[in-house]
Amino acid sequence: MHYDIVIVGGGAGGLELASRLGRKLGGRRGKRRVLLIDRSSFHIWKPTLHEVAAGTLDVHQEGISYPILGRSNGFNFLLGELETFDPVAKRLTLKAITGEQGEVLAPERAISFTYGVLAIGSGSNLFGTPGAEQAHLLERTEDAEAFHARLLAAFTKASFSDDRILRVAIVGGGATGVELSAELIEAHRELMGSLGDEQRFRLDITVVEAAPRILGGLPQKIADKATLALERKGVAVKTGAKVLAVHADRLETSQGDIPADLIVWAAGIKAADGNTGYGLETNRGNQFVVNDRLETSASDVWALGDCAAAPWKDGKTIPARAQAAHQQASYLEKALLARLAQRRVEAPFVYRDFGSLVSLGDNKGVGALMGGLGGPNFFIEGLLAKWAYMSLHLDHHRAILGVGRTVTLALARLLQQRVSGRLKLH
Ligand SMILES: Cc1cc2nc3c(=O)[nH]c(=O)nc-3n(C[C@H](O)[C@H](O)[C@H](O)COP(=O)(O)OP(=O)(O)OC[C@H]3O[C@@H](n4cnc5c(N)ncnc54)[C@H](O)[C@@H]3O)c2cc1C
Repeated sequence: MHYDIVIVGGGAGGLELASRLGRKLGGRRGKRRVLLIDRSSFHIWKPTLHEVAAGTLDVHQEGISYPILGRSNGFNFLLGELETFDPVAKRLTLKAITGEQGEVLAPERAISFTYGVLAIGSGSNLFGTPGAEQAHLLERTEDAEAFHARLLAAFTKASFSDDRILRVAIVGGGATGVELSAELIEAHRELMGSLGDEQRFRLDITVVEAAPRILGGLPQKIADKATLALERKGVAVKTGAKVLAVHADRLETSQGDIPADLIVWAAGIKAADGNTGYGLETNRGNQFVVNDRLETSASDVWALGDCAAAPWKDGKTIPARAQAAHQQASYLEKALLARLAQRRVEAPFVYRDFGSLVSLGDNKGVGALMGGLGGPNFFIEGLLAKWAYMSLHLDHHRAILGVGRTVTLALARLLQQRVSGRLKLH
């Protein structure tokens, strides 16, 4: 199997790139020039995983099948997990796919390419904390679904327990931990609305952060507002508390033990260990080192999104954010089209930080917008911040579905929510 362009990873960055290139290059059905590979058969935008975990977003409504996206966007899709990648021979292999009984559904496959793009994202960084692997993660859709199933079971258990309290501990006070706690409060509130007094239970959430404040990467003002909003909702925010070990029923921290029925690890990200075995230069976080044109250490191989360490300002690399992956996808569309035409894109990639937004549930958000939208930073909160937050998701849908379908989808989801409610309890 040979393709002009092979993109591995159909997430926030890779899927947008495949869609953009597929629409431009197209090709006869069965003879397309762009191949997208992903280990999952359907796409969920990763920044919504905390909503899937809390049950405020239904994965079966939100997920879109890659083959369908490929058909409408002019790329081919291949299901599989990357096993080997040879940037010199321009060849990769995908692991065999096995069924539930271990039977082989698809054998190992080899694909050669003229131009290769790696967009395989990142996972969690457990920082070698003992027992951390037993905590819930939010790396993949399956993780979010598994947490949701445990949450529903924990809701039932708490309803009939002696103390009628459900304790959730979230490790990491970054955007993921903050947003997850807000979504859980919302899910709990919706559920309580349908239970009699004899079944109601209290939800105690503790967010544990080793740094002196939550939302370390964001301005102090946003962190202060978010802390206040969470505390008003009853969330305990413990800062300066380092997690020393994770046990089945508690977190052991530098400030004492925190009992917990459910523990979520949302602290730090790291790219896959396997990235170091693909013959490309990587950094300590296993990211592929790329230059300001997103080119890896091998010719005709690019990397984007969370798996790439791209130079930014003050010696830092571009942050692992959906907005960075989104901008890199549109840059690489031009770079790859130019390369196909035997030209080189002259301008390097420049990341434009439009600010950061954090969703706090209840149709509220908090954040700061900057650059391009009026010069200096300006602080926003409430419904305006929530709308700005949602516009990132709409932007992603627009890139993969086009304007018409994005509007139809948004309306369909709104109507669906009116019928079946916002919370998924099954
Ligand atoms: C809960 C949560 C909330 C977030 N909120 C925000 C936010 O509000 N704003 C923001 O800017 N960012 C947010 N982020 C970060 C954002 O999701 C990532 O920066 C972004 O998704 C990175 O895009 P990507 O394309 O690099 O990787 P991903 O979107 O993670 O996509 C990677 C893709 O590669 C596939 N893949 C991985 N390994 C392999 C393999 N070996 N073989 C084949 N396929 C593979 C995966 O299945 C996946 O489809 C959030 C992250 C989380 C977890």
